[in-house]
Amino acid sequence: MQKQPFGTADGLPVDLYTLANKNGVVARIANFGGVVVSLDVPDRKGKLGDVVLGYDTLVSYLKDKDYLGAIVGRYANRIARGNFTLNGIAYVLAKNNGGNHLHGGVRSFNKRVWVAKDVSNREEQALELTYLSKDGEEGYPGNLAVTLIYTLNNKNELKIDYAATTDKDTVINLTNHSYFNLAGQSGGDILNHQLIIRGDRFVPVDATLIPTGTLRSVKGTPFDFTEATAIGARINQDDRQLKFGNGYDHTWVLQERTKGGLHPAAQAYDPKSGRRLEVLTTEPGIQFYTGNFLGGSIGGKSGQIYTRRYGFCLEPQHFPDSPNHPSFPSTVLKAGQLYHSTTVYRFSVGSR
Ligand code: BGC
Repeated sequence: MQKQPFGTADGLPVDLYTLANKNGVVARIANFGGVVVSLDVPDRKGKLGDVVLGYDTLVSYLKDKDYLGAIVGRYANRIARGNFTLNGIAYVLAKNNGGNHLHGGVRSFNKRVWVAKDVSNREEQALELTYLSKDGEEGYPGNLAVTLIYTLNNKNELKIDYAATTDKDTVINLTNHSYFNLAGQSGGDILNHQLIIRGDRFVPVDATLIPTGTLRSVKGTPFDFTEATAIGARINQDDRQLKFGNGYDHTWVLQERTKGGLHPAAQAYDPKSGRRLEVLTTEPGIQFYTGNFLGGSIGGKSGQIYTRRYGFCLEPQHFPDSPNHPSFPSTVLKAGQLYHSTTVYRFSVGSR
């Protein structure tokens, strides 16, 4: 595996690791934020294109507020007012999104230097990243030891295995926040991508994007992606949930499907390039976010300006604000227990 210097953060060296497979697919991952900086995959003619938004320099990743390509934690998504109670103890987390807690707080896992190790074998290249989140970091209880493994195999799958242990009961919800554009990172908006989400319910939210606590059927709503539909087909409809999100910014329920382990969660297809992305996960939900808040304030790769809807995120995760909703699948990790979660991003091409 190739490794090249990417700069320093917190006085520590940061490197870019290049994972490649025998089909020419290349993923470049930094040990700052566990960020996927670039991901080159073939189109239907075999031409490689970089399908994730990102930056050319570490300095831009230090400034980033959109979580481009990053690992987010301890808790991806929102926790209402940053408050939750566990074992009768009230915890107060950082409020970094209006009055709410978002994506792990002020300095989440996306702004930390991780310890990297090449764990490749003869068949596939793999990068292990570890980070110890100290007891009290951003208000969370417990020393949380996190290990991620990014693996690129010859089936054009980029897999992320997440594992963690804690010495005090805590809550955890890890994901990767890559923004995809299958036409290429300079491909413009993503509204023509055809999307399938394998969930027939979603998690409605209030105006601050906190779940109301119910789960709603997608039937007859702009949230029905059970059959391939263009992302942009209904995004501007006069729908309260779309208004709250400024577009799609919601979790779909995969709960029943994922019980048996890794399951297909979503699929996106770009008719122009023929590139297809399938997302498989062990998580009970997936957040679909259409880059509604992308502002283009920091220039992207090769000077590209990423504005609204220039990328979409498919973030496998538990439901938002689960610590405050006992009816949602639990995000509690007990002391001594092992947290484990797997997501696969599979790339292929279609002819349509
Ligand atoms: C959230 C958005 C948020 C974005 C930040 C997404 O996962 O759902 O509401 O603005 O992350 O980049």
